[in-house]
Amino acid sequence: MKVVKFGGSSLASGGQINKVFEIVTSDSERKVVVVSAPGKRYPDDAKVTDLLIECGQASLLEQDYQELAEKVLQRYSTIAEELRLPLAIMDEIRADLLSRLESDKSKPDRFMDRIKASGEDNNAKLVAAYFRKMGVEAYYVDPKKAGLLVSDEPGNAQALPEAYEQLQVLRSYPGISIFPGFFGYSKEGDVYTFSRSGSDITGSILANALKAELYENFTDVDAVYSVNPFIVEKPKEIKELTYREMRELSYAGFSVLHDEALVPAFRAGIPVQVKNTNNPSAPGTRIVAVRDNTNGPVIGIASDDGFCSIYVSKYLMNREIGFGRKLLGILEDFGLSYEHTPSGIDDISVILRESQLDETIEAQIKERIMKELHADEVKFEHSLALIMVVGEGMRRNVGTMSRASKALSNAHVNIEMINQGSSEVSMMFGVKQVDEKRAVQALYDEFFAPVTV
Ligand code: ASP
Repeated sequence: MKVVKFGGSSLASGGQINKVFEIVTSDSERKVVVVSAPGKRYPDDAKVTDLLIECGQASLLEQDYQELAEKVLQRYSTIAEELRLPLAIMDEIRADLLSRLESDKSKPDRFMDRIKASGEDNNAKLVAAYFRKMGVEAYYVDPKKAGLLVSDEPGNAQALPEAYEQLQVLRSYPGISIFPGFFGYSKEGDVYTFSRSGSDITGSILANALKAELYENFTDVDAVYSVNPFIVEKPKEIKELTYREMRELSYAGFSVLHDEALVPAFRAGIPVQVKNTNNPSAPGTRIVAVRDNTNGPVIGIASDDGFCSIYVSKYLMNREIGFGRKLLGILEDFGLSYEHTPSGIDDISVILRESQLDETIEAQIKERIMKELHADEVKFEHSLALIMVVGEGMRRNVGTMSRASKALSNAHVNIEMINQGSSEVSMMFGVKQVDEKRAVQALYDEFFAPVTV
């Protein structure tokens, strides 16, 4: 059997849900369907999850949330009308959302998770109702009853090991199971969501638990592209890549799949196929454990901006035991998570997302590093972009780094830092944010553009 997941844009309207119905029923192996909340119908549209967040926050602040709740309900009722569903489904959805909004607010994070999760929960009920109306045996599955147990970390839950065992119960369910993505339940029975875009994770967990033959992830692009199509025009599509490559690329900015979504599928060796709901006959991209390396050293180039580096230098740092630990300990005290730590003999840089910092925190961090670690220099550098050049073939091909750095230098991009070696499948370049697009284009041209003689 196959586990199939549909993203928000694939479920944003009645027309889209009908496409989902056609796709699912065209293959009898598609037994478990994971759904997101309704997403955007057009670029300026709002995602239901974003509306729910606004609504939940208004409620927490004791502001009037009715209008926002109506906006959410309007999205569902438009879909229900488009699909000509009986009115009862809207009564059920309305009652569910309103009771969540009136529920206990003493733990705001948990309250917010309860509100956010309603996006997928109610959408799954609606999709199941449509399948049944179309004469197909399909049922909404309550993740609590099915045993999707997660850790009690609001907005950042992780599946518990027991969940995989319990979820096998789905095998005995009749017909097609419509499973809401994005959340599970703690052992105490409370709702906790995964991080944003986490329905991908639900699909992967179910694929693992059910030992599915394939995890199909339907989205709104024909394939995973080798580079962001908003930076490079018509980039090459990737037909096949490994879990490791995909994880590196999604971590570094590819938004097609959640970067945590691959681990459960990978552990069970289940291939993942990314496909387009709006063009299901396109082959899409396959993610597997090993692939024939036929494409040269690089499979994709990802980039993301909004990073900052904290550069620390101290003479004889190399001899000082515990320096790195103490430095990271200071950041931990501020609750900061870091991404990379390239280092030299007497210096180390810690790269983190700058959205976590402000002037006050920076001044405090600087003071503590100077005082407690007796550093010679502490410098913050802002507005950096990280570019990740990814490919399994990199290790076996000589000169990939020199090709990359030459391409950057030809494009007059100054490399602020390089991190290579810790990952077997990627090289990282830190550049100034203003140079990001030029740098990505130059790297793409170097590794993907057809050679003209
Ligand atoms: N609806 C959730 C979000 O927007 C989860 C998802 O779509 O995967 O983050």
